[in-house]
Amino acid sequence: MRVTFLGTGTSQGVPVIACDCAVCRSLDYRDKRLRVSVWLEVQGKSFVIDTGPDFRQQMLRARVRQLDAVIFTHQHKDHVAGLDDVRAFNFRQRKDMPLYGRVEVLDQIQREFFYAFEEDRYPGVPHLQLIPIANQPFDVAGVTFTPIEVMHGRLPVYGFRVGDFTYITDTNFISEQELEKVKGTKVLVMDALQREPHISHFTLSQAIALINRLEVPTAYLTHLSHKMGLHEAVEAELPPHIRLGFDGLTLEV
Ligand SMILES: [Zn+2]
Ligand SMILES: [Zn+2]
Repeated sequence: MRVTFLGTGTSQGVPVIACDCAVCRSLDYRDKRLRVSVWLEVQGKSFVIDTGPDFRQQMLRARVRQLDAVIFTHQHKDHVAGLDDVRAFNFRQRKDMPLYGRVEVLDQIQREFFYAFEEDRYPGVPHLQLIPIANQPFDVAGVTFTPIEVMHGRLPVYGFRVGDFTYITDTNFISEQELEKVKGTKVLVMDALQREPHISHFTLSQAIALINRLEVPTAYLTHLSHKMGLHEAVEAELPPHIRLGFDGLTLEV
């Protein structure tokens, strides 16, 4: 399986208005972070987890030519806002795009993209197929995804395990029962927003403590705020088995 980080950034305090901090002014490409998303290529199939506001740019940048399904972690705007652009894959592939998510996520998608679900649709709208998932393993084009239910403040969010790879974003609490599903994973991606406490995201030190407790051989941090610091400086502080994710990073798992 090949994993490509499409985005490792956040909308949390995202510099929309020009910011003069060292990260926002950095020329290191690893400090340029689009909203969080990941691309999985497994057994000839191609999936993305979440379609945030930067989805189109991410598809072009990573040169994604085929997309078999989208799997959603949760319904926050930074994870769904770019969904309209899947229509390009509808035209290319001549079929509806399957979307997997909790019922609450699919309901939100139906509200936000109501025009894609009307009786008399404009021809150019995305063609979406909604597939509800619950907290049990499910099959997407022959590939098994195991949800890991985590809490993001008061909102339940799904992380996903696919084989030896586990992707968890947008959380500040994971129950012992759900952590059991992560054990034995070879590569773990974990939310770490910033250094200061936050109501719905892990801090850097909380993420490190959890990763160490799980004893995973390799972990990457994601959903990173510009307040975290320069990529190079933060990595120098981290133990060798924990790295910062960066946009464009590709792993064979
Ligand atoms: Zn969120
Ligand atoms: Zn988020």
